Amino acid sequence: MLSIPASRPNAYTGSPLDRVSDRRDDADFVAAALADPASLIAPVWRAKSLLRGVESGAPEAVLLTREAAEAVLMTGGPWALLGLRNDGTAVFTVDCSAAEDPLPLLPEGYGSFHDLRAVAGLLPPGEASMLAHARGLMHWRTRHRFCGVCGQPCEPRSAGNAMSCTGCGAQHFPRTDPAVIMLVVDEDRVLLGHSTRFPNSTMYSTLAGFVEPGESLEEAVRREVHEETGVRVGEVFYHSSQPWPFPASIMLGFHAEALSQEITIDPAELRDARWFTRDEIRNPESAGFSLPRVDSIARRLIEDWLQGAPA
Ligand SMILES: [Zn+2]
Repeated sequence: MLSIPASRPNAYTGSPLDRVSDRRDDADFVAAALADPASLIAPVWRAKSLLRGVESGAPEAVLLTREAAEAVLMTGGPWALLGLRNDGTAVFTVDCSAAEDPLPLLPEGYGSFHDLRAVAGLLPPGEASMLAHARGLMHWRTRHRFCGVCGQPCEPRSAGNAMSCTGCGAQHFPRTDPAVIMLVVDEDRVLLGHSTRFPNSTMYSTLAGFVEPGESLEEAVRREVHEETGVRVGEVFYHSSQPWPFPASIMLGFHAEALSQEITIDPAELRDARWFTRDEIRNPESAGFSLPRVDSIARRLIEDWLQGAPA
């Protein structure tokens, strides 16, 4: 039985914002929030987030006041309401990618733009979630300016959280592509692969892949594992999920029961795949490999199996 509960929340979860999706179409509410000098803005520049303290190893999100964001807002990029903080303060995001160099847009001492993924594990709780939300939403807005039905320009509605076609009236909503990520278990061993895409030569991680149209999550788990390693999978148990708006996914994590053991890798996807024993997973250095990052859902699937599975 591989139904193993998640031991703690995943990275990029726990946003401090109430998304107030029921108020996005209230034009008076949105106009008042936009005009309120107390409202805050999380800018995104070319998929990067505004942070300070990165160099000193204590990064934190920078939210601009309306006044501090004046030049950022003047770039004319898309904006959207992210939500309200506990104290009622509205938080918006704006994309200022039109600027070649965004730093002159900011007052002195307001940080600089960084890839969120590099520092997410070091941010105060909830900040990675909020910045990932901003980044994912702005990615969608900057890449869905025209209607996929008729090709005419779209205009924003719902405080920037939807697009409406000026030609045919079609409504378009932000996309989140489901991806499955799974730890395949064969009694006391687990299946990990070394992807051709991994930057580091010793890392072995869980298998993963996108869900295709018309496919259930369980079917996607079984198909991906078989395609990449030749291993047959039976029962599939949901564990937890992790937002992954890099650019537009959510990772859906599973433990999966192996029905076969022989491995035949797909060389287009993997350089290697192996069964690792419990002892090897506990001591990866002595077994000559490394595990995925501590803040990844892959690592959580592995560690929770190690802790939670019957020995
Ligand atoms: Zn259209």
